[in-house]
Amino acid sequence: MPILVMKFGGTSVADLDRIANAAAKVQREVERGYDVIVIVSAMSGRTNELVNWVETTSPLYDAREYDAVVSSGENVTAGLMAMRLQEMGVSARSWQGWQVPINTTSAHGAARFESIPRDNLDAKFSEGFKVAVIAGFQGLSPEGRITTLGRGGSDTTAVAFAAAFEAERCDIYTDVDGIYTTDPRVSDKARKLDRIAFEEMLELASLGAKVLQTRSVELAMRYKVPLRVLSSFEETDDNSGTLVCDEDQIMESKVVSGVAFSRDEAKMTLVTVEDRPGIASAIFGPLADAGVNVDMIVQNISEHQAQHAEKVTDMTFSCPINQVARARKAMEDARAAGLISFDDLVVDQDVAKISVVGIGMRSHAGVAAQMFKALAAENVNIKVIATSEIKISVLVDRKYLELAVQALHDVFDLDKA
Ligand code: ADP
Ligand code: ASP
Ligand code: MG
Repeated sequence: MPILVMKFGGTSVADLDRIANAAAKVQREVERGYDVIVIVSAMSGRTNELVNWVETTSPLYDAREYDAVVSSGENVTAGLMAMRLQEMGVSARSWQGWQVPINTTSAHGAARFESIPRDNLDAKFSEGFKVAVIAGFQGLSPEGRITTLGRGGSDTTAVAFAAAFEAERCDIYTDVDGIYTTDPRVSDKARKLDRIAFEEMLELASLGAKVLQTRSVELAMRYKVPLRVLSSFEETDDNSGTLVCDEDQIMESKVVSGVAFSRDEAKMTLVTVEDRPGIASAIFGPLADAGVNVDMIVQNISEHQAQHAEKVTDMTFSCPINQVARARKAMEDARAAGLISFDDLVVDQDVAKISVVGIGMRSHAGVAAQMFKALAAENVNIKVIATSEIKISVLVDRKYLELAVQALHDVFDLDKA
């Protein structure tokens, strides 16, 4: 039998009616002749609630216990989904990560897949079972502990199963009917794309478009898994939604294909650090050791140069807002250890990162100029800039986020096919 992977996100399994609605979609695929692997998320809001319980109980929690608690939301949905399918006359059973087993690394809270042996599920499918319901987001470490894959990780579970079981396709059912040129909740001019290249989706996801977890796109690209995003609330068929695929399967060729943003950014500036060889390494080494994900970096001449005899510079970097405390501690420890010196550490927590992405940028000059002009026309001040081959990101005050996204969407004509 051909295998199909169907993943349902939190809002798609938010209550018993929605689980029944999702189960009906699964039943339809079974009737079309597929053996189906269903990946479920926790009911919407549940994972946040669990995280909150953990943080309230133990601010510096044991990451292994965090995973034990936070993974549990998916267990509930998996059991309910299997039961619902049984009620509908579909032979189904649920599997938690450790039962498959989904073997991962022991990086708790951000584990990566090591292997997914097929034997257990294959045996059930050959007995005549039609559906295996898998609790997403979780796995088993080599030490025999429960792990989780990072927020949004059920997408990655889905792609990993699709790769391991050579599924015909991996369908990600969610609360929007596909991948848009930007988050449809921020711009009503956002346009649904029929197709998007793996590389573009990878950039959009890593720059904040949470419609797919970044790692899921990476895996799909590596294992050539046809990946589709579609609505769990609408009638759907083989042509619904957005297909994430290879570049050469796409006809449309816009220079910019999407705008992504992240609200959860912070900008930190070390004021008046010495301007000498090795200073960047003395700063970013300890930050990396502390697990801070530094993204954008700028170094400029310090305003306070006049008060210093030696050459000084200001070093600015951005990181996720929830890593500010950790970054601050790393910098203060480095100063106490005599590795660096600085007069002040200024933190701006009211910034957002906005990025334009497109593989067409490889062969087109002038995209950055066009982007900066559009932002200038709206009086949006750019605080930091970063570029790569297929993306340009800027950091701006968070209050300008919507305005900036709309302006960029307009200037690159993203509302037009
Ligand atoms: P799920 O719970 O199904 O995993 P998520 O909330 O993780 O769903 O992802 C779906 C959400 O992603 C949408 O509701 C939408 O607001 C957001 N999103 C961000 N960028 C995009 C985009 N470019 N296209 C579609 N949705 C996007
Ligand atoms: N429930 C997890 C989360 O909210 C995983 C997922 O939904 O993909 O992050
Ligand atoms: Mg998600």
